[in-house]
Amino acid sequence: VGTQKYHKVFDYVDTILQRRLHRRMDELELSLTGESVCDVEEEAGSQNTIRDHIPKDLNASAFVSIMQGCNMRCSFCIVPDTRGKERGRPIGEIVDEVKRLRDHGVKEITLLGQIVNLYGRTEFEKVDGKSPFVQLLEAVHAVEGIERIRFTSPHPIGYRDDLVAAFTYLPKLCSHIHFPMQSGSDRILKAMRRPYKNEKFVEICEKMKAARPGIAITTDIIVGFPGEEEEDFQATIDTVNRLQFDNAFVFRYSKRKDTPAAEMDGQLPEREKEDRNQRLLDVVNEIAKAKHQAMVGTVQQVLCEGPSKTNKQRLTGRTGTNKILIFDGDAHKLTGQFLDIRVEESTGFTLYGSVI
Ligand code: SF4
Repeated sequence: VGTQKYHKVFDYVDTILQRRLHRRMDELELSLTGESVCDVEEEAGSQNTIRDHIPKDLNASAFVSIMQGCNMRCSFCIVPDTRGKERGRPIGEIVDEVKRLRDHGVKEITLLGQIVNLYGRTEFEKVDGKSPFVQLLEAVHAVEGIERIRFTSPHPIGYRDDLVAAFTYLPKLCSHIHFPMQSGSDRILKAMRRPYKNEKFVEICEKMKAARPGIAITTDIIVGFPGEEEEDFQATIDTVNRLQFDNAFVFRYSKRKDTPAAEMDGQLPEREKEDRNQRLLDVVNEIAKAKHQAMVGTVQQVLCEGPSKTNKQRLTGRTGTNKILIFDGDAHKLTGQFLDIRVEESTGFTLYGSVI
């Protein structure tokens, strides 16, 4: 996955599971004994219980967790210790959940996993050279009524040509991937225990741009990792300039307890981390603004999500490339509908337009 933002989704799911555990404890009246119970085993079939997080009031867009755990050992990340080994849910179960969501009006599905493209690699076979994840994408694509499919977050390891090719024949796959890079320096990637080189990451992005012209790529980047020198940081800036990410979540490295990186030599002073954070943000933001500005005058299809969070009088929706568009309209009529919007203005990171 990468960094905090997407882990929050899993934290949310985890909170629900914890509540269920506490409920069970109450039922068993364990609290009367005064003993504390700490269950650190992976619950059998727990990858299937994630579906319990389906909310009562569904939007047109929903998340579906397809796996739990992660077998990677990124040196800054605590997930492998807290979530256990990778366990994928069977394709049939996931498709059943997608159909139930569809029956409640959902049109857009985001498949969630810590390393989503490696879904099922330890449990399910390849078929016709296609990974279990591509098989899953095909199965979800076949669900009538689901119009858009997204996934987050993929890892460069296992991002193979079958997944790139899927973007050429599965039109419901949105033209956007969130693809964590973390660093543009091979030396720092090695220290992060991210087992790929910068060139490999760049090559995958270029293949994706060829497979789906106009695809938006966003990423996660950590700056100020222990031992990061100015030249490592420059390698990150160079890669951002080369790949022209649509946006990037930039994180200043901070120690996470019980991770190998927290004990590494070469921890950087806060002011150095802050300086790099700001310099990288300047580059990222300039590219993002230019990409938004280039959309002014175009017509974009959005899935209307309802009233905008910042201005309840207006509506909001997302393009396939995951850009936010604000427009006027009747929330009761338009929420959950696909609409064509003419983009009239960009304020940097938000687009404004009118329904046509
Ligand atoms: S891939 Fe790395 S960052 Fe993502 S969950 Fe696994 S260990 Fe953590």
